[in-house]
Amino acid sequence: AKAHGSNHHQFHEPGMTAAAAERLHLENDLREALRRAEFELHYQPILDTRSLQVLGVEALLRWHHPEEGMIPPDRFIPLAEETGLIRPMGAWVLQTACAQAARWRELGMALSVSVNVSGEQFFGDELPRAVRDALARHRLPPEALTLEITESTLMHGSLNIEARLDDFKAIGVRLSLDDFGTGYSSLSYLKRFPIDTLKIDKSFVRDMVTDEHDRTLANTVIAMGHGLSLAVVAEGVESAEHMPLLRQAGCDRVQGYHFSRPLPARKLTEWLRAFRG
Ligand code: C2E
Ligand code: CA
Ligand code: CA
Ligand code: CA
Repeated sequence: AKAHGSNHHQFHEPGMTAAAAERLHLENDLREALRRAEFELHYQPILDTRSLQVLGVEALLRWHHPEEGMIPPDRFIPLAEETGLIRPMGAWVLQTACAQAARWRELGMALSVSVNVSGEQFFGDELPRAVRDALARHRLPPEALTLEITESTLMHGSLNIEARLDDFKAIGVRLSLDDFGTGYSSLSYLKRFPIDTLKIDKSFVRDMVTDEHDRTLANTVIAMGHGLSLAVVAEGVESAEHMPLLRQAGCDRVQGYHFSRPLPARKLTEWLRAFRG
């Protein structure tokens, strides 16, 4: 079964389903992708809700597959996690994002950079050291780096989660809880963790303009985050109509297509200059 018109299918066992073949094909390609420099980071601005000052950027991974074009992270990150490839990939993301943050600093743009960290990576032994190395190599102050971990990573994590979070607090990087509202964190659970920021999942933010229930949910999450002394970021801010609602709710930061899509570093630098100028 030729899944996507490429010629990498010599490994198929008879009886393999098309989906399994496709998976194997992608997995083989993913192993080569780092070496072939097929990955790129795009960056999306995160702004102060009131002043619209750009406070930082989130780094988002892109894979330019030689035959299939751009493959979205939702398609390859789960595979990378299952195969363990997420660790070298994650190390590359960390180094690349820190290098870029240092470049922006040299240009006088003191942006913090947020990096997504998957569960596999977060609980791996090498991450604290990789974080320290990346900061040192690029001479970045730790508070310039934010690690974004998802609510589900936190909830399904092993028992040593608090120790691991404390490792990162000791290094001095910021911690942000991503996709908040999609899991089932209890308040008491959250209170125990040294998190700095909550990101309201974009599924609530996107429709808050038209859907009263989503608006209520978003407002509740913002109030709750503030109750726990956390800064709250709304992602998925797609329109100007979101802004008065988010300001009214006291949401601290905003991120979304309304301001900019995730862009390659050079494009984002142009965007930053135009937006500021
Ligand atoms: P995420 O961390 O929740 O990232 C936000 C996603 O929302 C990104 O999708 C971004 O492009 C998209 N987005 C931003 N603004 C808007 C908006 O206004 N409307 C809508 N509809 N979407 C918006 P993307 O880049 O496809 O990434 C998907 C997911 O893949 C991320 O979700 C994150 O979980 C994962 N991911 C991306 N890069 C990395 C990485 O370097 N490492 C790891 N472990 N995961 C990553
Ligand atoms: Ca994120
Ligand atoms: Ca998110
Ligand atoms: Ca997500």
